[in-house]
Amino acid sequence: MTTLVSKWNYPTTVRFGAGRISELPDALAVTGIKHPLFVTDPGLAKLPVVADTLKILDAAKIPYRVFSEVKPNPVESNLNAGIAVFNEGGHDGVIAFGGGSALDLGKLIAFQAHQTRPVWDFEDIGDWWTRADADRIAPIVAVPTTAGTGSEVGRAGVITHEASHTKKVIFHPKMLPAIVIADPALTVGMPSFITVGTGMDALAHCLEAYCAPGYHPMADGIAVEGVRLVLENLPKAVADGKDLTARAHMMSAAAMGATAFQKGLGAIHSLSHPIGALYDTHHGMTNAVFMPYVLAFNREAVEERIDRLAAYCGIAGGFDGFAAVILKLRQDLGVPHTLGGLIKDLAMDDARKDLIAEMAIIDPTAGGNPVRLTKDAALSLLDQAIAG
Ligand code: NAD
Repeated sequence: MTTLVSKWNYPTTVRFGAGRISELPDALAVTGIKHPLFVTDPGLAKLPVVADTLKILDAAKIPYRVFSEVKPNPVESNLNAGIAVFNEGGHDGVIAFGGGSALDLGKLIAFQAHQTRPVWDFEDIGDWWTRADADRIAPIVAVPTTAGTGSEVGRAGVITHEASHTKKVIFHPKMLPAIVIADPALTVGMPSFITVGTGMDALAHCLEAYCAPGYHPMADGIAVEGVRLVLENLPKAVADGKDLTARAHMMSAAAMGATAFQKGLGAIHSLSHPIGALYDTHHGMTNAVFMPYVLAFNREAVEERIDRLAAYCGIAGGFDGFAAVILKLRQDLGVPHTLGGLIKDLAMDDARKDLIAEMAIIDPTAGGNPVRLTKDAALSLLDQAIAG
């Protein structure tokens, strides 16, 4: 008899490679989408990367409508507006095109347009979804244009509940794109800040998944290679945004991170979510700020694992060597060492810190941290990220 029990899911079809955006019409045909809603964000909607993609749809005579009311860190009103447009236009599927914000909102529109229950019923806090919920999900083709969140292969969408200023992870095992077109050429136009922030997000996903407790050797294997790919390629992608090989490896690492984090995430995300919801900071960059503080906090529980990870990545010095590489990477890439470097005029009183710590310990990711995230621990980590 063994106590090793787990659950593994790897269902998404990913068409990977530079130039494969040309296959978008075929991906729609395979998925059965004839009249898609093209969901993107307003910044991207003005860039050639969207115009060029729409030309591909035009050439294939596919009727579509663009919806771009998507805030970075999307909110409930974006979702409601998107559902209204989807239903009014009689759309039969979604092309989710963009970074995590547009991908998540596109997935959530497809998920929620025909549901009978409110979206908040599907917060990632239980296992009570039904077959009927799944049958109401419209098909999705996902096209990432950043390399970080991995939302294209994930079963969740993150959305801010505006009334409570809380980021909620909406989850359904069937809220998955049918086909992903992972074309690294689409990420070439990312500004440096977004390349760094999204790349550090991929690193945070791989690292937290690897450190999460539980038996999931497949996620662990994916996560360690994902960490190696980020350490080797993120500096190259930042130094030369047109380096398609580095961009491709980063796009893989992003999908790997999200595939691996079905095992769990941890305190980096638990703290980053309330900061993102309250201060509208970039998710990946916020993760990057918290990363070394949380790694040190978890040391006792993960030292042996990190020793192995360091050896795999060719880093000498075990845990200490790995922690030093993370600090240097952050510094080289211009990641702020403290929250004050991320949030202008940051002034947090005790009540605000208390609120953030409370939000962190009830965040669904807190349970995946290898050391229990108590309120005192969350407060201490927050103080460290403020003081440096
Ligand atoms: P984002 O989608 O918010 O995009 C950030 C900015 O980058 C936007 O202004 C966008 O216009 C711009 N941009 C995107 N691609 C570009 C390109 N190719 N060229 C030029 N500009 C480009 O950023 P993100 O980090 O990808 O996503 C963050 C969101 O994803 C957050 O809401 C976060 O909570 C969520 N998230 C979701 C998951 C998940 O599992 N679903 C995981 C992690 C994060």
